[in-house]
Amino acid sequence: MPKRSFPNESTYKRFVESGRESEFDRLFDEAAESVKAQFGKKYPMYIDGKEVLSSTTITERSPIDNGMVIGHFQKGTREHARQAIKAANNAFETWKNRNYKERVALFRNAAEVFSKNKFPLAAILSYENGKTRYESIGEVDEAIDFMRYYANELEANKGYSRKTSKEESKTKVAAGFQGAPSTKPEKVDIRMEPFGVFGIIAPFNFPVSISTGMSTGAMITGNTVVFKPSSSDSMTLLTGLKIYEYLKEAGIPDGVFNYVSGPGAEVGDELVVNPDVAGIAFTGSRTVGTGMITKAYGLGLQKTFIVEMGGKNPAIVSRYATLDDAVSGVASAAFGFDGQKCSACSRVYVHESIKEQFVSNLIEKARSFKIGNPLEKEIYMGPLISENAQKVYSNAVEKAKSSGRVLYGGNIVNTGLNGYYVEPTIIEVNHDNELVHNELFVPILTIEGYKDFDEAIKLANDVPYGLTAALYSKKNKEVKEFIGKIQAGTIYINRYTSATTGAIVGLHTFVGWKGSSINGKGSGSRFYLQQFLREQSVSITK
Ligand code: NAP
Repeated sequence: MPKRSFPNESTYKRFVESGRESEFDRLFDEAAESVKAQFGKKYPMYIDGKEVLSSTTITERSPIDNGMVIGHFQKGTREHARQAIKAANNAFETWKNRNYKERVALFRNAAEVFSKNKFPLAAILSYENGKTRYESIGEVDEAIDFMRYYANELEANKGYSRKTSKEESKTKVAAGFQGAPSTKPEKVDIRMEPFGVFGIIAPFNFPVSISTGMSTGAMITGNTVVFKPSSSDSMTLLTGLKIYEYLKEAGIPDGVFNYVSGPGAEVGDELVVNPDVAGIAFTGSRTVGTGMITKAYGLGLQKTFIVEMGGKNPAIVSRYATLDDAVSGVASAAFGFDGQKCSACSRVYVHESIKEQFVSNLIEKARSFKIGNPLEKEIYMGPLISENAQKVYSNAVEKAKSSGRVLYGGNIVNTGLNGYYVEPTIIEVNHDNELVHNELFVPILTIEGYKDFDEAIKLANDVPYGLTAALYSKKNKEVKEFIGKIQAGTIYINRYTSATTGAIVGLHTFVGWKGSSINGKGSGSRFYLQQFLREQSVSITK
């Protein structure tokens, strides 16, 4: 058995393994009914613990059915961002000076609050971004895991600070030089200091877990936060607000975590250009991620960036693969949550000798996926997040038809609901086609055949991204070669549950290489928290 000690929340797994799946469904269904009472209301922002209103609001609608209004949220402005930055700066001194053990205790408490509310939170998430109950509860679990994991890490590493010393020498030398002995002892305190205010800019697709993970990373290490959830084309403002409410209930003081809803181009941009924001933790597209770094440094600002971006994740299916594992792993990674995961599999390279069989089995699997209202238990694929996402899908399908072949899918699905439902889609285009290189973030999978394993790895690496990658092969030589040569941070071999998605906190680390990340340090990793801290070496000679 591999050594593994982190106790994950694993809600669904616990219910299923104890024979209580029907209770799981009942709890989710009841929550899905009861959270509706929260919909359609007007919600404020929270700055310094106080409700703040803007002059205009944003109406958030459910992607499941546009007729369902989730709520009316404040369309925050630059000025609101500035107020929140000021509040976070005011709260910083006291917060950073609290012993790290107190912050650890607060986030352990926050994990309990989230855990207590996990079914309603998961239900809101399903309404808000169209995830199935399983994906939603899994995401809420991940948020809880992040809080506990980071609390454990900070505690186990004693806040990452350490002390060193140098004993006095009996020999005195006339002048100082590098390595000169000193007759006086030297004591050194290597402190880990937070930076100040962090802007947390979150994506729509994991609005609970990623927002909570990034915010916890910043705050548990002593920084204060201005949090901006996704609000433009794809809105996740109610789950964002719930994060605020749960953190407040857990005892996070006013001003330490501020919730500002508003467009990225305004509220997000203010966080990037404002000199009083010391750092940005961002997860989202490569265009926005790299754009904000270029902008900040172009303005001569000194800011630290923790930036996680997109993927164009490949799977290689070798002739030594167990075909069933490859088919089920690729299908769930490509089409789960409609391909809207940064880790989604969007390219497959299959050995020519098994390509026909693989494609035929994959089509059968894709055909079995039910499409519709994700609140219904048997549905596997809900709606795309927005009309724009559906346009990206339709344009890509047209491009595939004109430059290659659509092997399966390619159609918009009429579910009777006013949402953006599409088929899982498998296409065959040449390697130089833009569909092979650009992240689409919709359920479209490209297939290419290969003859030589080396060639498959070269093709897999030939994109600007390097987030996740998979191999299906039972041949050790291929496995070794894949591990040595694949340019991706998170790789999986022979995983039938999913080729490239589903990293678990404490088991994997989730990290991008190349254009998928700028830091090369993963979330849910032993190295994550250190990114929110700067070292200070304090040497005292008596
Ligand atoms: P996105 O369009 O880049 O938006 C992400 C966030 O950036 C949103 O909160 C957005 O705000 C904000 N934003 C937009 N323009 C901005 C600007 N000029 N300045 C500051 N902030 C700005 O990404 P998304 O569509 O929400 O999420 C999908 C992307 O995230 C995909 O590329 C996916 O691969 C990536 N992702 C990566 C990971 C990872 O761990 N590597 C995980 C999840 C997702 P508004 O929406 O309010 O405008």
